[in-house]
Amino acid sequence: MKKLPELFGCMVFNDTIMRQRLPENTYQALKRCVKDGTPLDLNVANIVANAMKDWAVEHGVTHYTHWFQPMTGVTAEKHDSFISPAGDGGVIMEFSGKELVKGEPDASSFPSGGLRATFEARGYTAWDPTSYAFIKDGSLCIPTAFCSYTGEALDKKTPLLRSMEALDRQAMRIVRLFGNTSARHVITTVGPEQEYFLVDKALFDQRLDLVFCGRTLFGAKPPKGQELDDHYFGAIKPRIAAFMRELDEELWKLGILAKTEHNEAAPAQHELAPVFTTTNIAADHNQLTMEMMKKVALRHGLVCLLHEKPFAGVNGSGKHNNWSLSTDTGLNLLDPGESPAENAQFLLFLTAVIKAVDEYQELLRLSVATAGNDHRLGALEAPPAVISIFLGSELSAILEAIETGQPYGRRKKEVMTVGVHTLPAFPKDTTDRNRTSPFAFTGNKFEFRMPGSALSISGPNIVLNTIVAESLRQFADELEGAADFTQAINALIKRTIKKHKRIIFNGNGYDEAWVEEAARRGLANLRTTAEAMPHFLDQKSMEVFTRHMVFSEVEIRSRTEIMLESYNKTLNIEVLTMIDMIQKQILPAVFRYIRDVSLSITAMKQAVPDASCTAAEETVRRLSALADELSSGVQELNVQYEQAHAFASTTACARFYADSVIPAMQKARAAADEIESLLGDEYKPFPSYSDLLFRI
Ligand code: ADP
Ligand code: MG
Repeated sequence: MKKLPELFGCMVFNDTIMRQRLPENTYQALKRCVKDGTPLDLNVANIVANAMKDWAVEHGVTHYTHWFQPMTGVTAEKHDSFISPAGDGGVIMEFSGKELVKGEPDASSFPSGGLRATFEARGYTAWDPTSYAFIKDGSLCIPTAFCSYTGEALDKKTPLLRSMEALDRQAMRIVRLFGNTSARHVITTVGPEQEYFLVDKALFDQRLDLVFCGRTLFGAKPPKGQELDDHYFGAIKPRIAAFMRELDEELWKLGILAKTEHNEAAPAQHELAPVFTTTNIAADHNQLTMEMMKKVALRHGLVCLLHEKPFAGVNGSGKHNNWSLSTDTGLNLLDPGESPAENAQFLLFLTAVIKAVDEYQELLRLSVATAGNDHRLGALEAPPAVISIFLGSELSAILEAIETGQPYGRRKKEVMTVGVHTLPAFPKDTTDRNRTSPFAFTGNKFEFRMPGSALSISGPNIVLNTIVAESLRQFADELEGAADFTQAINALIKRTIKKHKRIIFNGNGYDEAWVEEAARRGLANLRTTAEAMPHFLDQKSMEVFTRHMVFSEVEIRSRTEIMLESYNKTLNIEVLTMIDMIQKQILPAVFRYIRDVSLSITAMKQAVPDASCTAAEETVRRLSALADELSSGVQELNVQYEQAHAFASTTACARFYADSVIPAMQKARAAADEIESLLGDEYKPFPSYSDLLFRI
């Protein structure tokens, strides 16, 4: 193995390589394009493409692919070779600027939500020079955006880049108001912590539900779960440690700063945290991380489950989206800092986030809405489906002091006036942490904890960037015209806190009482994807996205359609898998066991005529009753399956799945799980939770 510094980024056409391999003026032109978005001319692209190709060929690469992120949630690739005929019957390796900059994959098979009829199948991929090209599986991968012939985004990267620009535009207005003339851009940064499960491949293969749905549809609770909390941060088993080591190496080669690997709360659950980076790159890296987790697991006879809730009764997996804002000169705008001017600036950005989250709760909720994540939110293991912000006692007290004009704690007698008085040195440590909040301030960033483990982080970050851009736009409009800046800022912050403080909640988010309290405060509680997703079409959502040019109305409609369709399809597959497993695996196992127990009753009676066969008879009786229940459960699911297919609108269909089908699935599952607890071990139709969670 190479030493770490050599290994890190060795498969990436990064800044160092570019500086080495590109002529100075080409390198500078590319840098300008990346930093300031100046267009790149074809000559420059040609030189870059050629240098990329040479570098890739030296690494044994023969193909290149535009690497993009269609609305399926996974990445897509279309491979072409560098080969060109050389005239003399031989070939040369070629890669032109045109091929680097633009690709034309057939777009007809990617979801477009009605945006693009199949006969207009043309789609374009366009090079995103802000994310480095890299080598994966022997191909040179070029990160690209994917859009339709008419320019609508068909992917997750395009709107993410647009939202970063929107935020940059508005945040720069504020930064300038504070007299900062050196910063040229405001960048959003993200560090997504990724949770996942590892299960044995041989056991995985025996569970149709895991194979088809990525989660178990059946499974009685094992005698031991996570109640002892002995897994969290526990010693890592050798097989898992070997997996983690290899995963780290693969990620490092791709320039991904995987930093922390540890066991999570549930048995067989683990977490990987990267060092944060620019949002766009963080999103690309997270997609690659998930892909690598799956690949590397297979090499160790394991399967990596990225589903948000693979096991009932055991914690699901999330993806904590740590998010902050900083200037291109490295100033974190959410860092409380210590000097007065910066503090006023900090408080302004802080209140901008508070306002945004309160005003657009529905958007944040729906940005993490998937069939899988619905099982996790509100299950008292992850935040409820209610959005709130945790600020901690210190910061909350400061805001309260500002709002009420009261003296603040340590500096008794003195009335807080933002921007005039120095705030107390802010404790950036972990003294008062809250793990139950969906949106927590953690020292110099916010941690959005609602995204599920399988989600692309683009969605939530598109929303975050856009809604905060909107707060900042309103703030800038007001402050730019102010006669007295200090006074205006004070009034603005005070008014914003007063208006939006209902979103702040520092208590236990898992508590039932909070859900009631939240309802009293008028906060949204959108329990399912079916309930949440239609809010994408609200007037308010349309306005904020179109105003900041992140989504057009057409794009919003198509995306809503895609999300709901995907929800319906997921549930459809789950229903069919459930029916299949009940009929072909569970019921036959029950009948076999009933037969054998009945045979032993006969045998017992023959051997000892007055033998009491109560235990055996009870087992048969209970199992037959449960088998009947399961069988009528299947009938009900079949009927509902037909009904679901009769809906013309995806929205109505989604509501039907959420309100009728899911409860019917839960009922069938309850019967099956009781059966599992009664069946003899050798009769069990597939590996149990104990097998999956504890035999690694
Ligand atoms: P935790 O205790 O929740 O694990 P850490 O301090 O280890 O918190 O950070 C968690 C994640 O937050 C890491 O991925 C880290 O890179 C990321 N992070 C830290 N600072 C920032 C920032 N300014 N912007 C975005 N993400 C950040
Ligand atoms: Mg965390």
